[in-house]
Amino acid sequence: MPNPDSFLCVQYEYDAPPEIGKSVEIIPGLRWLRMPLPFLLGHINLWLLEDEGSWAIVDTGLFTQATRDLWPAVLSVQMRGEPISRVLVTHLHPDHAGCAGWLHDRCKAPLWMSREEYLLCRTLVADTGKPAPPEGIEFYAAAGFPESALNRYKKEFGSFGKYVAPLPQSYHRLKEGMTLAIGQRKWQVIIGRGHSVEHACLYCEASNTLISGDQILPTISSNVSVYPTEPAANPLADWLDSLRMLKERLPPDVLVLPAHGKPFRGAHVRLEQLTVEHLDGLHKLYELCREPIRAIDTFPALFKSEINRGNLIMAAGEAIAHLNYLQQQGDLQSWKDDGGVLWYRIRN
Ligand SMILES: [Zn+2]
Repeated sequence: MPNPDSFLCVQYEYDAPPEIGKSVEIIPGLRWLRMPLPFLLGHINLWLLEDEGSWAIVDTGLFTQATRDLWPAVLSVQMRGEPISRVLVTHLHPDHAGCAGWLHDRCKAPLWMSREEYLLCRTLVADTGKPAPPEGIEFYAAAGFPESALNRYKKEFGSFGKYVAPLPQSYHRLKEGMTLAIGQRKWQVIIGRGHSVEHACLYCEASNTLISGDQILPTISSNVSVYPTEPAANPLADWLDSLRMLKERLPPDVLVLPAHGKPFRGAHVRLEQLTVEHLDGLHKLYELCREPIRAIDTFPALFKSEINRGNLIMAAGEAIAHLNYLQQQGDLQSWKDDGGVLWYRIRN
């Protein structure tokens, strides 16, 4: 049997991930911690950076009882009861930002995030418990959602705050190009866009290490979605630009510490694969648009996995990201029918 990893051409250096709630040292002063996720991936990787008698934490885990139950032992045993110098959050998604506000309150640790991630995260937490807005219902109806899926969207709207503790009222800004001194190392902030609005990666040139968050993952492709708040957004253009930029800025042999999966080398190969996957999806979509189609009709061209109730919103968001990309490139035209459904076809 060929090793499936060999198809990827990325090289893993640490074959034994830590158990959930435990950490292992990756390089001196940098520990790999795993926390649980109650869905498909099963885990998120967080990073503990020694910082002169204290620790900086990168990402925080989902705000669930399971994660909260694990943190005290991490703080007292694996971090030796030393203070937290800062809580750094790569981006606002609940598995990354979930426990940030809770850790801030508990450990009096300042929060560091990029500005757009911080502000959007606070907005989404503030939307918790509110009814679904008409703009959202219109957006997913236009994508072709049946009544049952629209009802599910309405029911689930505003659940972000269930998995993300409220953020503190003030924070420190992570900004593109800035350098953070943490312990003996200097970490440069590199901002990527497309998966999230202003995703921060941390790159240490001296140790040739990148904490990549969800910006580069070894085995899965990060979701790139359009949301009802900005229906004409073009996040796929941002994402492809970011992949290109990262390839220019990172050495090919950088050690990538991703939020999901295992640390690996082979960033350039992986960035190329991610790019090709999307370009291939765009090509298939273009061919499909020889006949008028709705966003939900594009799933077979874009996704290998089955689209079900649980991943429909993400799939629709990603399909619309591809359609918007082609449309804004001038390849497609779209129109709404009398029922409010949006149709796309190759531009004549
Ligand atoms: Zn994410």
